[in-house]
Amino acid sequence: MTKLSKIASEKGISYFLVSFTDLFGIQRSKLVPAAAIDGMMDDGAGFAGFAAWLDLSPADPDMFAVPDPDSMIQLPWKPEVVWLAADPVMEGKPVEHAPRNLLKAQIAKAAEMGLQMKSGVEAEFFLLSPDGESLSDAADTQEKPCYDQQALMRRYDTISEICDAMLSLGWNPYQNDHEDANGQFEMNWDYGDSLETADRHAFFKFMVKSIAEKNGLRATFMPKPFTNLTGNGCHTHVSVWKGKQNLFADDAGELGLSALGYQFIGGLLHSAQSLAAITNPTVNSYKRINAPRTTSGATWSPSSISYTGNNRTHMIRIPDDGRLEFRLADGATNPYLLQACILAAGLDGIENDREPGKRIDLNMYTEAHKAPDVPKLPLNMLDALRAFSSSSVLKDAFGEEFMTAYAKLKMDEWNAFTQSMTKWERANAIDC
Ligand SMILES: [Mg+2]
Repeated sequence: MTKLSKIASEKGISYFLVSFTDLFGIQRSKLVPAAAIDGMMDDGAGFAGFAAWLDLSPADPDMFAVPDPDSMIQLPWKPEVVWLAADPVMEGKPVEHAPRNLLKAQIAKAAEMGLQMKSGVEAEFFLLSPDGESLSDAADTQEKPCYDQQALMRRYDTISEICDAMLSLGWNPYQNDHEDANGQFEMNWDYGDSLETADRHAFFKFMVKSIAEKNGLRATFMPKPFTNLTGNGCHTHVSVWKGKQNLFADDAGELGLSALGYQFIGGLLHSAQSLAAITNPTVNSYKRINAPRTTSGATWSPSSISYTGNNRTHMIRIPDDGRLEFRLADGATNPYLLQACILAAGLDGIENDREPGKRIDLNMYTEAHKAPDVPKLPLNMLDALRAFSSSSVLKDAFGEEFMTAYAKLKMDEWNAFTQSMTKWERANAIDC
């Protein structure tokens, strides 16, 4: 393989941003000068693991993040810097609960079964004022702001800079729009292998925030930044392949989806409550799912564990032949754990021939009472974490180390939330 120091001198690269993603989806980096990068490729960049959201202690030895050269991305807005996704190792062994390692283990398991998952994500975001408190565009006030041409073009400088960046990186972006909440946008690029999509998703979040900051704005992927407006979803489109053949496609199958596709859906439905701890990982996430109607007329997020055809009121939609759309995840989901948990639940569906039951063709926002037996998604983070901790599917797939680490750190977060006092709480109890 060509040495990165050589690529650096050919392309005018001064620095490498060696990055790993922790359990909370936060990217941790070392900025490594090009002159030192070749050594880092062998040994990794050193980190104190306890300083990130991983289940490690200050007494643990150094953790090294070993860069994956295939993930290399030259920052379009700062071309002298290259981003490299890295895999944490400790004492020569992969840190099993590190999200990118966890996803790679699931991908290897799928490969043993002769399968490859491909996916695409719709990572919605808001552009806010720099302090994050309000919309950045005071004129963005329509009741139904989705696809608003005028508001989209007022943010042209930022949106086009991000899209130009994706074009230059070869991601094949194909559309950008103003989404259903005031101040909200979505940008779509091609689907691909799940690891590639996870790396691009992680980089996309970094890029959107960076380019927004450069333009005097603040981007947020927070699930529900404003209670009356539609939240940030991260709808995920999924198909499973064997070489060049899409194994989800079957002309004879119901809605063009194969038996394998329905087994995969069966797996997602079976594990949905526990998946929510990963796909909807924050306290705020539960204000997006299970939410009341927004000012635009719909939340666009699911509240029940159900699937359907081309209908956006369910957790899983079959929009087209040969793929499914998993609509549960929100903007806070960890890009690597998102792919890993979908793959784990889907493979479980295939291995155990999980029956998804009949699809439900109701408008779940207005007609859910006609399907009273459909199970509901967790109402809050605690319910999701309890389901997560008792999931034998996730335990078998991910192992004890990850399950314990994730549950422990997320329970600490839940406890911190319950110990905080809200204005609502005071107002409702002060005169009791
Ligand atoms: Mg959308």
